Order: sequence, then structure tokens, then C-alpha cells
Amino acid sequence: MRDQKLQKLIFEKSREGRGCSLLPACDVPAALPDQALLRQAPPRLPQVAEIDISRHYTEMQKRTHGVNDGFYPLGSCTMKYNPKLGEEMAALPGFAGVHPLQPAGTAQGCLELLCRAEQVLAEITGMDAMTFQPAAGAHGEYLGLLLIKAYHQARGDRARNKIIVPDAAHGTNPATATMNGMQTVNIPSNEQGCVDLDKLRAAVGPDTAGLMLTNPNTLGLFDENIAEITRIVHEAGGLNYYDGANLNAIMGIARPGDMGFDVIHLNLHKSFATPHGGGGPGSGAVGCKALLAPFLPLDRPVQQGEAYGFEDPVQSIGRIKAFYGNFLVVVKALSYVLTLGAEGIREAACNAVLNANYLKNQINDLYEVAFDGICMHEFVLSLAELKKRTGVSAKDVAKALLDYDIHPPTMYFPLIVEEALMFEPTETEPREMLDYAAQVLREIHAQAFSDPAPLLNAPLTTPVARPDEVLAARSPRLTFEF
Ligand SMILES: *Cc1c(COP(=O)(O)O)cnc(C)c1O
Repeated sequence: MRDQKLQKLIFEKSREGRGCSLLPACDVPAALPDQALLRQAPPRLPQVAEIDISRHYTEMQKRTHGVNDGFYPLGSCTMKYNPKLGEEMAALPGFAGVHPLQPAGTAQGCLELLCRAEQVLAEITGMDAMTFQPAAGAHGEYLGLLLIKAYHQARGDRARNKIIVPDAAHGTNPATATMNGMQTVNIPSNEQGCVDLDKLRAAVGPDTAGLMLTNPNTLGLFDENIAEITRIVHEAGGLNYYDGANLNAIMGIARPGDMGFDVIHLNLHKSFATPHGGGGPGSGAVGCKALLAPFLPLDRPVQQGEAYGFEDPVQSIGRIKAFYGNFLVVVKALSYVLTLGAEGIREAACNAVLNANYLKNQINDLYEVAFDGICMHEFVLSLAELKKRTGVSAKDVAKALLDYDIHPPTMYFPLIVEEALMFEPTETEPREMLDYAAQVLREIHAQAFSDPAPLLNAPLTTPVARPDEVLAARSPRLTFEF
């Protein structure tokens, strides 16, 4: 039965005088800031007992769906299971308790870890140098274009302000170009869902700063012309940026560096096993070829003889985040890579591709695959025909999956596919789960033709069914009104 009651906010659970502060007595002399800087009234924090807090978070946890609850095939987001070992490593006091202002001499292990992570990830991607400053993929893209811009400017090549982006790209790509004050040149995909070489040739010129591309692309297709694509851009004087969000399909098998890319970001929180989806912390590690390394952010951890320290690249763009980024995410990534090893990383990618093709082939007699053929780690369905014949849309199917304890796939993306649903099962799902998901999708399909009405109101079992998404996005209520 649907439980319609909305969860109370922690502020609504607050009761005057209740609390659970367990702070020990201060054992150093108190040093108060300037009187003028002190707040006039105490902050209005919720006053709750420990049991209230514990129940509050348990209640919230029950109302959500994470990888630990069930299948989570959210395309492009790589919601794989994250080994608990990574959490244990990140919780080690030497990592968790380090202070960014500590002298380098007292944080040698952490610096060594950053250098080793740089080494292994540069090896996996075919890059020469990396930085872990960016906190997310989009943040990494922003830095990547800053590096490209700095490179052109350092050569006195100031007219290059256009970034070429295929129409299948993630929305962050054109947004990044705009944030960097550059213009996006959109190029349409060809009939196979890949880059149209003729359109690319027509688009490049003396104003091309670079190209942004993800391969496999957001349709789950590996662009076989990738070497030619990057060559065309290089010949026009531009640089190639690799959006590494889809690395899960090719890690250990193919390297962006070998495909002709000059700069990349990795979503360590996607491909390299940090839980995500709740808003962070993440890491959009940026790797680059030697020609861009002089522009990398300040305070690069480096090995100096036997010890580790910092170095400032000569033409650095400066900083884009405080200190060294989300360090503990890097701890988890290195732990993941070292646990799996070269063979294991490759096997993970192979199984990600196998699982996507397995699921696709269990349902492609009923559902139309947007671009059929062997896919990489994800695939995109088009429900346009289903909608025309039954009135059941991609959104309705996504909502219905919630009643089966399956997280919806990515909806209405990429934009070039009508009524799109994008599935990425990931390598960590067992065959039984893929069979279950296929069976559920087949049931929903049958229901769309026999009795579509319940699907139009799905989900029927969750606390909240169909919130007003536009209202939520345009007028979010983010503060509690006392
Ligand atoms: C997730 C994703 C991004 C953005 O990464 P964030 O870490 O969410 O900022 C960029 N491109 C693609 C293809 C993605 O899937």
C-alpha cells in the first residue's frame, strides 16, 4: 500500500532542549575571534536526540533506491557496485585525518598515493600527466578546456574560440564550452549514430579550438573512425578532448591517448568505484599529454628523489579547487585499480559490455533499439512506436520499473532519440538480475497493450509517485521556513 505521508524534515522533529552533543571538554585555551565576527544569536539548529537522528536517516534510506537496494541501470552514470574495501581504505586514519595544510614532510604517504594514482590512471588512459583537483566530471571538462585555451594562447593563436561537439554529447560538453567563453559548434550524427566525417571536415577551421567527444558515445556505440576524427581536428590546429564518463566500456582494452586525444577527464566516481548519485564527493581527474602539462593546476604532487613534494607547472592556469581535490575518492580509485589489477580492469570492461548486450538481446524483439548492432556498455531504446500504439511513454515505463524495485534508466537522453530510455547494467550485476529486468520489461510491454491505465499512474508502491518536475527544478524550496 502506498504510504502517502510525507517524511518530516529534521527541523520539524526538533524539540526545545533536546539534544545529544557529546563534545569533550576543551583542553586548550579558548581563542575567540573578533567580537564583531561573532553571531548575535545562536544558529537555529534542530534539537534532536540521537535516536531521532538515527530514525530520521533510516527513514530517508528506506525511501530511496541505491545500488545496495537493487538494479540501477541509469545509463551514462555507471552505477556499479562499489567494493567495501575502498571505504575501508579511505577510512584509514592516515588518509581520513590528514590536513591539507600539513607540511609535505608529514604527509608522505598521501603524496605517494596521489603520485601512484596518477601513474596507473595515466597508464590506463594513455596520458602523460594527471591532476585530481576537479571535483566532478563537469568540473574536469571545465579545466580541460582551460588547458586547451591556455595552450592556444601561449602560442599566440588567439582566434581559436570554437569547440566542436557532436549532437549525441552529454549536456555538460556544450555547457563547458559556454562557461569557458567559447562557442559550441554542433555537428549531427550520421545514420549509424556516429560522427559524420564530412560534417566534421566542413566544421573545422582556423577558429577551431578543439573537439569534445566521448567514445563509446552516449548511444553506447564505439566510433570506429576515431583515429580519423582526431586527425581531422589536429590537422586544423585544434586539440581533442575526451569525455571519459564512458571509460567503463574500454578500460584495459583501448586508450584515449592512443586514439589521438590530448586531454581527458575521468569520472573516478563512475568508473573507479566511489558511490555516487547523492551529490558527491566525486573526482573528475584530468589527464593530458605532455604538450598540456605545463598548464596544469598549481601544487602538483611529485616525487623528488626519495621523497614526495609539490611542484608548480610553469604556465599553470592556477587553481580550480582548494588544495588537492577530493583526496579520499582518489584513495578509493587506487584501491580499486590495485585490487583488480590489469587483468581485472580489462575483465570489468568486458563484462560491462557483455551484460549490456545480454540485456539488450533479451528485449530487442519487443522494444526498438535506437541504433541496433553490438553495443558497448550501454544501449538506448526508442519507445516512440510503443507510445504511438499504446499511449505508454518512456517516462511511464521508467516509472513502472520502480514498482519492481528497479531504478529507472536514463530518460529522454540522448536528445537525438525520440522517447529514449538508456540502460547501463554495469559489470557487477549477476545474470539472474539481468534476467529479472528483462522479464519485468516484457511484462510491462504486455501490459501496455492489454491494460495501459495503471502504467500511466505508476509507480503505485512508492511514497511519492509523480512529483511536478518542472516546479521542483524551477522553484525549489531549499530552506526551512521557521
Ligand atoms: C556523468 C557524465 C558527465 C558529467 O560528470 P559529472 O561527474 O556528473 O559532473 C559528462 N559526460 C558524460 C557522458 C557523463 O555521463
